[in-house]
Amino acid sequence: MKIYGKKEIWLITGSQHLYGPAVLRKVAENSETIATSLTSSDNISIKIVAKDTVTTPSDILAVCLAANSAENCVGVILWMHTFSPAKMWIGGLKVLHKPYMHLHTQFNAALPFSEIDMDFMNLNQSAHGDREFGHIGTRLRQDRKVVVGHWAATSVQAEIDSWCRVAMGWSESQSLKIARFGDNMRQVAVTEGDKVSAQIQFGYEVHAFGLGDLQPVVDAVTDDEVAGQIETYESEYVVSPSLLTDPHQFEMLKNEARLELGMHKFLNDGGFGAFTNCFENLTGMTNLPGLATQRLMSQGYGYGAEGDWKTSAMVRIAKVMSKGRFGGTSFMEDYTYNFGATDQVLGAHMLEVCPSIADAKPKLEVHLHTIGCRNDIARLLFTGKAGPAINISVIDMGTRFRMIINEVDTVNPSQELPNLPVAKALWVPRPNLSIAAASWIHAGGAHHSTYTQGISTEEAVDLAEMAGIEAVVIDATTTVRGLKTELRHNAAYYHLNQGA
Ligand code: MN
Repeated sequence: MKIYGKKEIWLITGSQHLYGPAVLRKVAENSETIATSLTSSDNISIKIVAKDTVTTPSDILAVCLAANSAENCVGVILWMHTFSPAKMWIGGLKVLHKPYMHLHTQFNAALPFSEIDMDFMNLNQSAHGDREFGHIGTRLRQDRKVVVGHWAATSVQAEIDSWCRVAMGWSESQSLKIARFGDNMRQVAVTEGDKVSAQIQFGYEVHAFGLGDLQPVVDAVTDDEVAGQIETYESEYVVSPSLLTDPHQFEMLKNEARLELGMHKFLNDGGFGAFTNCFENLTGMTNLPGLATQRLMSQGYGYGAEGDWKTSAMVRIAKVMSKGRFGGTSFMEDYTYNFGATDQVLGAHMLEVCPSIADAKPKLEVHLHTIGCRNDIARLLFTGKAGPAINISVIDMGTRFRMIINEVDTVNPSQELPNLPVAKALWVPRPNLSIAAASWIHAGGAHHSTYTQGISTEEAVDLAEMAGIEAVVIDATTTVRGLKTELRHNAAYYHLNQGA
């Protein structure tokens, strides 16, 4: 079983009737071989299903309509085994709503120099068949992925898998529901936005709830359920001994267990994949959830603090895209700087950083929380794993959305931070803090981000492309001047592209 279960990508192979039934039989057989091989490959995380070879405009239209309505189909791979005159594809491509990848491959790998004849040439025509097909995609002004190379090569399969994961993220975005407990942090700009435009652009729904909706669900959690949860905590974390022996601390831990189970039930019953809350809206709650939110994120829920529904959605989508991969994904905030020989960013939040990014077993402790509400709160403490990561911010520009991506290198802190009572990650942004932060600020990036070691820059950009929004990448090659020029060019493009 693939990690995405019943979800699948269709492989649709194009041809035409010019070459006779024997060639078409071979084309169909080869498509089936490719789909079966990709599905059984460890490099591919989703089932690839070969559909019948299409040779006429009506075949093509029918399979595109079928892909649109097939619940488990999250995208299609299109490939021309032979020549397939591209006007035949106009009708189908115009109605296709699922994302498509154009796989520019060839069934046969090496050229059989000593044996090659015209039969071989007629069967293996992708080199020009795919160019004819590619032309119509460009003529239709369609954004799509083009992957080039032999389908059995590891590097090509890695590219195919990357795109399939993005298609899964996009599929998740279409059906995602986000619960907002309370509203936005008062006066904060970047966490606001147009939820109607977001639903039109990304598909996801944002639903607000008063804390009075959540409180009875939390209060209904039983003592037995709480006790069971404490056992789970003891098995998964390094639990500070005082947490279990000090009656007050133990009570605070039980509060978190109740909050976690209550929020989980609320989200699960309502079909929500992500949530937000806000320290300014806690009426009826014992405290701002700490451990509870951290654990819900590690179970796959998206989260955004201070009502940040855009980041919450992006955290959830990145978690879906990176399913089964080693690197984790968390809600994050650029918190404070370490200026020095190499300028660094200490990323953290009041409490809510996901343990999926931890470099070791997290510690579970109770500390006094002083922002917004003053409470002793149980939380997980850890350091983010060293290695490459990206920070992603999706912002509302008023007339459209923009995604900003900064590549960073997370490092091990050179010293302990014994008095810091929250989880953290320390990183060096590429190309350096000076250029990266200036670029991020010019691009309008939020103070919140989706921090991930589970998806690549290219995958994030592909997601933006599927969503039809601008992607601004800040990486080792970025200059502030170049980035500002790019922003101006993009402003013109997106303004013209979206029409009146
Ligand atoms: Mn914040």
